[in-house]
Amino acid sequence: MRYRVDPEFKHKIINREGGASFKTCFQCGTCTAKCPVSQHVDLLRPNKILHIAKLGIQNHLHSNGFWLCAGCNACVSTCPQGVDLPAIMHAMKSLAAEENQIPRFLCDYEVLREIPFPLIYTWLCLDPDSFPRYHSNVNEWVRRSIQGYLRRYQEAKPDITHKEKVAVIGSGPAGLSCAWELIRCGFSVTILEREEQAGGMLRTGLPAHRLPKELVDSEIQHLEALGVVVKTNEDVDASTFNEFAGYDAVFLATGSHRKRRLHVEGEELSGVIHAIDFLKTMNTRGLSSLDRVIVIGGGGVAIDAARTAIRCGGGVRMFCLEARNEIPGHEWELQQAFAEGVELEPSWGVQRILGEKIVEGLILKRCIQVFDGQGRFHPVYDEEKTKRVNADTIILAIGQGPDVSYLDKLVKVGRGIIIDPNTMMTSENRVYAGGDAVRGVASIMEAMDDGKQAASTIIKRFSS
Ligand code: SF4
Ligand code: SF4
Repeated sequence: MRYRVDPEFKHKIINREGGASFKTCFQCGTCTAKCPVSQHVDLLRPNKILHIAKLGIQNHLHSNGFWLCAGCNACVSTCPQGVDLPAIMHAMKSLAAEENQIPRFLCDYEVLREIPFPLIYTWLCLDPDSFPRYHSNVNEWVRRSIQGYLRRYQEAKPDITHKEKVAVIGSGPAGLSCAWELIRCGFSVTILEREEQAGGMLRTGLPAHRLPKELVDSEIQHLEALGVVVKTNEDVDASTFNEFAGYDAVFLATGSHRKRRLHVEGEELSGVIHAIDFLKTMNTRGLSSLDRVIVIGGGGVAIDAARTAIRCGGGVRMFCLEARNEIPGHEWELQQAFAEGVELEPSWGVQRILGEKIVEGLILKRCIQVFDGQGRFHPVYDEEKTKRVNADTIILAIGQGPDVSYLDKLVKVGRGIIIDPNTMMTSENRVYAGGDAVRGVASIMEAMDDGKQAASTIIKRFSS
């Protein structure tokens, strides 16, 4: 094959927002070993993509793999060179979009065969909203291509060849991927979901502007068509846990629903809401009108909440402890938020929330340090430097953790459920766990990987 080479490609990436660290990669391969997608999708080999991009090769099989980076950040902290891979992959996507290169690899390569929910996955990776000029093309193309995959899957409904039955508790990305893997290998699988509709955080946590909910519906319908039984409104607690005695294996994918608190005066006032509750309400009941909104936090959930709030017609200001160069959210997501009218003020913490019964505003105090010398979270404030901001709604996006109280010591827990990372098995022999319930907050890709890994252990266990 003759390669088409653009000698300027490397410089085009380096000169884009977030692309500068491109030149420091020395091909150690750590990112590829760490990337949860690379474990299942051959086309996404981050170090290989950088290598080919440096050579400027445009038509290599892997040169389109950047489209499949989901920006999960799993590789960032392990890169010895501090390469911001998700930012580089995003720079490549935006360059490709500008140069009118629709990601056609799906038409040529069946790379998504090994991904449990290809429609959702591809939508999140391609993120059509990132490229407004290009939106309708990508939008239409993704729908057509991935629906083709779903049709093909439907033609091949697997036979149940194993007598063992598996229960999956929770229908977020970890639960769905575990169920998908198991049913394809001939196991009978039942998903139990406590909400009215299945999908977990794909349904309630991700805002509709990032993931249209009809795509979640399609994936769940597809899973049911394969033979997975999905039961909703099924709450699990210690008393009902014994009911799972009839199952040969149980996979716990119960997510991360315990909200972190600010512990400041006024936190209980009406109008103060945690971001996960806010996003859930907006996703399940539809957008309602808002006026003056303050979002506290600077991570991905804060940006999602701010971008959702601005769609409710209000003015939205974000305040976070971190300085501008420390903000944990992706820069491109922040830029999207700014383009939509969200304002950001870094280096502020909340001193107290004002109001009698209903929130009226808050007092902020200057944050002069977020982490101590060992990198631990240890905010330090200048209490003299304060300011008042008026607000009708305050959204707290300051983190969440797994609520494992329902297990009532049935399996060992620490901050989350404790597992053997090689097998995903808990302290109970037939009980496995993954996703947010184990990790605290996992990306969708990490949760998907956990589900697949647990399924693979269960399959091996009952196939020997
Ligand atoms: S971990 Fe960093 S240095 Fe190593 S290959 Fe990946 S980007 Fe390059
Ligand atoms: S950001 Fe996530 S999906 Fe993208 S290369 Fe890194 S680990 Fe893989």
